[in-house]
Amino acid sequence: MSTVEFTCSGCGQTIEVNDEMRETILSVGCPVCTTPASDDDFAAPDEDDAATLGAGDS
Ligand SMILES: [Zn+2]
Repeated sequence: MSTVEFTCSGCGQTIEVNDEMRETILSVGCPVCTTPASDDDFAAPDEDDAATLGAGDS
């Protein structure tokens, strides 16, 4: 199961979520402040960024 990081545009809280929690947040909003969430508020965790940094600029 993959996880993504949700960053709330309302309260700024970053939460690692699985697919099921992602669907829930898209339906009901941020679990902290209930601000409605969109797809743009979800991003892959940092591990992917590290791989990209290692492969780039050569
Ligand atoms: Zn929030």
